[in-house]
Amino acid sequence: MKPARSILALLTSALLTITADAASAKTLQVVASFTVLSDVVQQVGGDHVHIRSLVGPNGDPHQFEPSPEDAKNLKNADIVFPSGEGLERWFEKLVKASGYQGSPIIVSTGIRLRERQRKGQASDDPHVWNSPANVQVWVSNIEKALVALDPADATDFHANAARYSKELHDLDTYAHSKIDPVPVDKRKVLTSHDAFGYLGRDYGITFLSPLGLSTETEASAADVAKLIDQIKKEKVTVYFFENSNDPRLVQQIAAATGARPGGELYAEALSPADGPAPTYAKMFRHNIDEIAQAMVGR
Ligand SMILES: [Zn+2]
Repeated sequence: MKPARSILALLTSALLTITADAASAKTLQVVASFTVLSDVVQQVGGDHVHIRSLVGPNGDPHQFEPSPEDAKNLKNADIVFPSGEGLERWFEKLVKASGYQGSPIIVSTGIRLRERQRKGQASDDPHVWNSPANVQVWVSNIEKALVALDPADATDFHANAARYSKELHDLDTYAHSKIDPVPVDKRKVLTSHDAFGYLGRDYGITFLSPLGLSTETEASAADVAKLIDQIKKEKVTVYFFENSNDPRLVQQIAAATGARPGGELYAEALSPADGPAPTYAKMFRHNIDEIAQAMVGR
């Protein structure tokens, strides 16, 4: 009888372990619209979330062709996070088509948006994450939503959010330490599209670009000619590629103005894990380092 009793004891203890794990470590299935947001949700969710990003590393969040698997993941998600405010125009249609029953949590809700005029039309700037102060609002919205969905793990979500808030504060301090010493008349750079407006606002940098707030916009020959004049007049000497879109237009403008290449910025997509910007914090520091270095000249 002894062997049978040990097996029973083993089984009982195994069952108890499984039950205990299930109670203390619930894993939420989460879908985020793009990689920058997916990283921030990961920072707040920690071990309690399994995240899929719809747009992948180096991908353009303005334009996206979802696969049937994306729709399936969305349908089965416990919670879904877009950034909103006009960034992911494809998102609503995909949510409807997927059959997802919940309400997506729009993380940029509550951020004071920057308005831009282009061709007589006003639009809000959706690239909020290029300001750590705005990402703080994301963190609060994500924290609130995760706590509401999984109150048993609230203590961890609060602790993660507090730790990450401190990291965001450190990023802001870092950016000031790099940019503040640069003379104001040198703080001008050329990029592909208008994705760094909040960074420019926070740290006093002027970003010029041939494309507007979305990579879906197009620049006419007249727009490009006007921009070339402006670049010459304002003596903008450096241009940047963006990791997630076509560099040809910005290269062409640079060639016409004599601006030199400053490197690659991560405007709205993280790099793969082995690249220079696999997390939001690394992306932000990389961008600040590249911009600061290019503005003072190498
Ligand atoms: Zn963009």
